[in-house]
Amino acid sequence: MELVWLKVPEWENQHGLLHGFLGRRGGRSLGPYASLNLAFGVGDDPQIVKDNLCDMKKAVGVHDLRIVTMKQVHRDGILEVKDNHLKQAGEADGIMTAAKEVFLGVLTADCVPILLTVPERKIAAAAHAGWRGTLSGIAAKAVGDLAERYGVDPSSVEAALGPSVGPCCYEVGPDVSVPMTQRWHALAEKALRFSNGKTFLDLRELNRLQLEKAGVLPEKTYLVGPCTSCAEQDFFSYRRERGKTGHQMSFIGWLS
Ligand SMILES: [Zn+2]
Repeated sequence: MELVWLKVPEWENQHGLLHGFLGRRGGRSLGPYASLNLAFGVGDDPQIVKDNLCDMKKAVGVHDLRIVTMKQVHRDGILEVKDNHLKQAGEADGIMTAAKEVFLGVLTADCVPILLTVPERKIAAAAHAGWRGTLSGIAAKAVGDLAERYGVDPSSVEAALGPSVGPCCYEVGPDVSVPMTQRWHALAEKALRFSNGKTFLDLRELNRLQLEKAGVLPEKTYLVGPCTSCAEQDFFSYRRERGKTGHQMSFIGWLS
């Protein structure tokens, strides 16, 4: 199985930590879902999605375990997962766990997949940040929830932000740029680009800035992979495909 499987080099040395940002290659789906679509409910054949999930889990080394996903709703709800038999955590855009052998998955096709870990405590979290999630500050909220639930200091949190639509391709209207600036002020201004009368948003950078504001150290924040809309061969992109597309998965968890 020939996967696009991007990782944080610094995390590969963490014994027991498995993670990655997967791309679209190496699966069985056809047409707009070709080929490693891991999302149900986007129009792909559910049996093929099941087979893709099974093949993918084998390939990344969690064959006998589950990867818990969420019913992502573009808000800022974050749930804790303790049960490693669970497949679906429920309606949320973030999940976290301090349990071993619980793998957390997030599905995206332009939105920012965010993976978080506290290596010395073997805690993991995953979140999905589209523009609505970014507006409500889900990245910062995840760091706050880690502190509240597990008593971890934000400076011990490490973060990776994966392939997502870049400022090269993500043109936004005032319906996005205005509330974003009202809510995030200077942070939003740093993430907005203006060119030929158009406005573009660097969604990943705005999430990175939110993490920094929440206390995550810049040197422990990693940006992984290209713009999903530019990298057609490797990643699904909702914008590029005008909504008819598959979703790639990003995942994280501790084996032991
Ligand atoms: Zn691009």
